[in-house]
Amino acid sequence: MTQLDDRLVREMVQKVLEHIQTGWGPTSTSAPRVANAATTAPFAQRPPAAIGGHAPDGRWGQFSNVDAAVSAAKAAQLALMRQSMTVRKEICQTIRDICRERAEELGNLEYEETRIGHKPHKPLKMLAVANNPMGVGFIPTECFSGDHGITLEEHAPWGVLGVVTPVTHSLPTLAHNAINMIAAGNSLVCNPHPSGKRIAALGARLFNQAIQEWTGIDNLICVMVEPTLESAREIFSHPGIRLLAITGGPGVVAAALRSGKRAICAGPGNPPVVVDASADIDNAATCILEGASFDNNLLCLSEKEAFVEAAVYDQLMAALEAVGAYRLSSSQMDQLAKLCIVPGKDGEHGHANREYVGADPQVIAEMIGLRIPPACRMLFGPTDWEHPFVQVEQMMPVLPIVRCATFDECVERALQAEHGFCHTAVIHSRLVDHMTQMGKAVNTTLYVKNGPSVAGNGSGGEGYGGWSIAGATGEGIATPLTYTRVRRCAMIDNLRII
Ligand code: NAD
Repeated sequence: MTQLDDRLVREMVQKVLEHIQTGWGPTSTSAPRVANAATTAPFAQRPPAAIGGHAPDGRWGQFSNVDAAVSAAKAAQLALMRQSMTVRKEICQTIRDICRERAEELGNLEYEETRIGHKPHKPLKMLAVANNPMGVGFIPTECFSGDHGITLEEHAPWGVLGVVTPVTHSLPTLAHNAINMIAAGNSLVCNPHPSGKRIAALGARLFNQAIQEWTGIDNLICVMVEPTLESAREIFSHPGIRLLAITGGPGVVAAALRSGKRAICAGPGNPPVVVDASADIDNAATCILEGASFDNNLLCLSEKEAFVEAAVYDQLMAALEAVGAYRLSSSQMDQLAKLCIVPGKDGEHGHANREYVGADPQVIAEMIGLRIPPACRMLFGPTDWEHPFVQVEQMMPVLPIVRCATFDECVERALQAEHGFCHTAVIHSRLVDHMTQMGKAVNTTLYVKNGPSVAGNGSGGEGYGGWSIAGATGEGIATPLTYTRVRRCAMIDNLRII
């Protein structure tokens, strides 16, 4: 009788645990469900969801209230912790599969909503998320073994992370952050940029729906459907959030660092490219065009100004024209700067005029009465080093080219133009001494030699890439490890077997 009661009670408890709360799936005592092509492909192949219609508040990551989002994300995170590492891995793969299968549709929808950047490049950004190898494999366990036993150091999740994403890559940043954060055992509450909120909400809905379908866990990725500065502030000060992960410009980085919470900040950049007299000029021109024109220069790591040694200045200008960039005169660069850059007040730097951020070169050229070929991807022209296009992170396909008398001057100007953001710098040179000198001087998170800037972030160079490059706070390209805390487990005087 007692035995029967015990069994009944155990079964009841098991059922309650499985169903007590929306989003709680089978516990890790059940056999882990392993996603495979058969479980994820049908989801990815469903007809496209309409961008306007998001799920009801509180489901599939759609929230209009920060408190509710944090509680749901907390429940989801606890449920995730009850699952195996295999399940975490498969959740990350599910997000990747959706990014791959729906790259075209999601990329186009992002463009339709934000209206910035180069439309054909948007799906490529989704594919870059899909092809990135990040996952649970990026989380090592360290071990110390000796006379006094064995000590392990493991990388644990923080819990619910507060996330802010930029308008320049709303869904790629959310998707990539989600993969990294979930791989590390976290859930997240995201305040997207208001101008990219619908694509962020749609992505969250697709990811959560698929995750819930086979793990039973909903709301690992929560998004504020009507994000405001107020909802950002609530996330920054919410007691249920212990770590912030910010991707954006100087304003949001400063706000997050004032919050009193630990913040991982992927902040602004103004990457210089230096071309010295020894460089392969044709390769330099091809690479500069590729990096500076990608998605109309929206990437934080794209070349934003060039400093060129006088001996090869004319050659580089001709080479840029030869690869299809459109050459402007210095007075045309001045004319454009008046329209594209908003001057700073009280000696501060200006900022890019939002209206032209990520605009096509044809649109920008037309503002000064120029018609350029439809296939042209970038404008460029001579300026001095103090020019607004040099000093301001313009995020437009308009590259200022500064003539410098010597390599030392190139480096000095590059260092000044980078403004200490510690983000990205590029050099084209055949001289190892020059590469070393500039690398030491600029002190950036990414330093790319003889390639386009994007190659330093996994696209055309070795190593992984990412959508949050935390130069401001020093974590580098964010990986799952970035979103963990170290915990130590020590066995004293025992368990060493050799
Ligand atoms: P932005 O700074 O205008 O906005 C970024 C995000 O911060 C948005 O979600 C916005 O709503 C929010 N925000 C802005 N001010 C805020 C404040 N005071 N409090 C709370 N939230 C605030 O930038 P953007 O135009 O969306 O994106 C472009 C900027 O982001 C550029 O400076 C670019 O270099 C940077 N960026 C950096 C990286 C990186 O990895 N380092 C990646 C992408 C973009």
